[in-house]
Amino acid sequence: MASRSSEKSAAFTGFIPEFRSFATDAIHVGQEPEQWSSMAVVPPISLSTTFKQYGPGKHAGFEYSRSGNPTRNCLEKAVAALDGAKYCVALASGLAATLTITHMLKSGDGIVCMNDVYGGTNRYFRRVAAEIGYEVSFADCTKLEVLKAALKPNTKMLWIETPTNPTMKVVDIQACSDMAHEYSKDIIVVVDNTFMSSYFQRPLALGADICMYSATKYMNGHSDVVMGLISVSREDIYEQLKFLQNALGAVPSPFDCYMCNRGLKTLHLRMKQHFKNALSVAQFLEGDPRVDKVIFPGLPSHPQHELMKKQCTGCPGMITFYIKGKLEHATAFLNNLKLFALAESLGGYESLAEHPAIMTHASVPENERMELGISDTLIRLSVGLEDEEDIIADLDQALSAAHPKK
Ligand SMILES: *Cc1c(COP(=O)(O)O)cnc(C)c1O
Repeated sequence: MASRSSEKSAAFTGFIPEFRSFATDAIHVGQEPEQWSSMAVVPPISLSTTFKQYGPGKHAGFEYSRSGNPTRNCLEKAVAALDGAKYCVALASGLAATLTITHMLKSGDGIVCMNDVYGGTNRYFRRVAAEIGYEVSFADCTKLEVLKAALKPNTKMLWIETPTNPTMKVVDIQACSDMAHEYSKDIIVVVDNTFMSSYFQRPLALGADICMYSATKYMNGHSDVVMGLISVSREDIYEQLKFLQNALGAVPSPFDCYMCNRGLKTLHLRMKQHFKNALSVAQFLEGDPRVDKVIFPGLPSHPQHELMKKQCTGCPGMITFYIKGKLEHATAFLNNLKLFALAESLGGYESLAEHPAIMTHASVPENERMELGISDTLIRLSVGLEDEEDIIADLDQALSAAHPKK
């Protein structure tokens, strides 16, 4: 199983070194041909919902496809290895993963959530979890004293996302995990690692108990699967999650498991290129007079650039920037993009742009959006894997359309 290498040089200046054997594990762990009687090198898609038993209760490891599926197993083993975890549980979506994790708690238990999270996570905690009796509070976890004040005797879960969506605040995973665990051993620290993928960040090595993903984004990386993944090393948590995967039943299809498993084979290559392209885009935007401000944790201008370098091996393709002017300028920019698709989601090979205040974060109450800085001029980019020059040329012409007189 991969661990952090000290001898291998850092892929990107100043960041922690690449995780050892990452690519080899992505390609081989859980994929052993010997597990199939056909010796298939690529794991087959097992569509069968049920599995023949030798005698009542005597089976070859599979009974019913919700409880366990051979294709899902391959994916789960690979992801666990990539996260430096013992186990992984795959679910039907990122939100299904969030739901399944939250179901480990009992009504009346407290949840402390980073105040700047994915819109759907915010909506789930606020509109669903809080309604059915969980005590949910939101805290700015970039400030340890704020987190400390938010922890209560009934707190059972701390939910972190880093970098946050869309304002790219970076949370110190080790410091927050230590603080929560010192307060109470019963607090489960969860990190939503969607933006980073296993390639750039390993929350479990930084003290978190659970690493979760919307695999819909970078992990699958091809914008053609909706899926959730949870990695964990603690046996007690795994047992509960495995039980809930079956008991709640929010499982992914074997076909989607096959697709995501396939996507992982190029995760390391994709993430390196996302970083390279995003860094060039961020530098271009930062030097452009039509742009007010760029937020990219890979730039030295990012207030938590040092923290990012301390806990990550690099940065993904997510860039947030404020265009000069008003809503109409943001709208003109988005309407004039040609290569970038105006669309929600992120983390695929194709470049996407979106307007969080109107699109992904519309469900966050307006006063909170303002506090977080999700204004009308904020634009979020998911920089894809196209040629760098073409990506920048598209942004340049759309900026010109928004601001005709430079
Ligand atoms: C998309 C996303 C989710 C939700 O995942 P789904 O697969 O859409 O259910 C959760 N967290 C983050 C950071 C996301 O980007």
